[in-house]
Amino acid sequence: MSVNERGNGIGDRSREQGRDQIRITNLEVYGGHGVYPRETREGQLFQVDVTLNTDLREAGMADELTLSTNYGEVCRMIHSFLRENTFQLIEAAAEHLAQELLLSFPRVESLVLELKKPMAPVKLPFSNISVRIERGWYQAYLGIGSNLGDRQGYIDRALEEIRRHPKIRQVRCSKLIATAPYGGVEQEDFLNGAIGLKTLLSPYELLDFLQALEKQAKRERKIHWGPRTLDLDILFYEGFVSGDERLTVPHPDMENRSFVLGPLDELCPWQKHPLTGKTVREMLRELA
Ligand code: ATP
Ligand code: CA
Ligand code: CA
Repeated sequence: MSVNERGNGIGDRSREQGRDQIRITNLEVYGGHGVYPRETREGQLFQVDVTLNTDLREAGMADELTLSTNYGEVCRMIHSFLRENTFQLIEAAAEHLAQELLLSFPRVESLVLELKKPMAPVKLPFSNISVRIERGWYQAYLGIGSNLGDRQGYIDRALEEIRRHPKIRQVRCSKLIATAPYGGVEQEDFLNGAIGLKTLLSPYELLDFLQALEKQAKRERKIHWGPRTLDLDILFYEGFVSGDERLTVPHPDMENRSFVLGPLDELCPWQKHPLTGKTVREMLRELA
């Protein structure tokens, strides 16, 4: 199977071009968001600031709207979203609105959204109250492996599910390599690869999704580092670093594993480990 596929490159280009933005400030919407029944019943004023991080070079050079994001459409979507839905919390309204915008306007790599509630029911003088969130399509790299049953089939099906997830895009997969088992347990050879993708899922949401795929493949956890139908590990997630037991990112043992670094080197040789500063290529060379 050739699963090597280039993403559409929107994100990569925007990084090359620097930090272009489209900004909308103080868009006013009347909505029913609040914890108190009166707020839902009567509604009140909300104001939205949004900064869209998106490459504007092409549209600028060609003077062509279809190469950019239509800010009129963005305003109309914000307006109808906040009128047609009701949330108790402005946190929830902002979160769902941010996801909706990122899913609807594919050129937007990330955004900063501030939702303000100037008439919030607080019996003290203030000029505004708001929440401000930053969300985007974040780059992650996964390790994928199988050494039980139809190894290629398990990997293909997992890849299909990953590509189908609405909050995942630009999926690329390395060549799959056959490797001897790691960790001293007597078992069949592995088929291993790496996957690159962009996602709106948080690191923990991504982990939940990957574990659901392992479950779907009837993965059983009997012996540590033992045989498995499907293993999906998060190797990198943007510059995210986490040391807890449920999710350690970057994957703590990657520097010692050629079956991880080899496939990763095909996708992102210059990706830097956020803790050591070493690139994937450097780690691979040091291992050899
Ligand atoms: P290794 O992680 O050394 O490759 P493994 O893949 O065989 O070993 P599993 O049995 O698949 O280990 O996972 C054990 C636990 O590791 C999972 O329950 C998960 O919560 C946790 N975990 C921690 N960090 C990660 C990560 N980066 N990716 C996936 N799982 C992780
Ligand atoms: Ca693993
Ligand atoms: Ca694992």
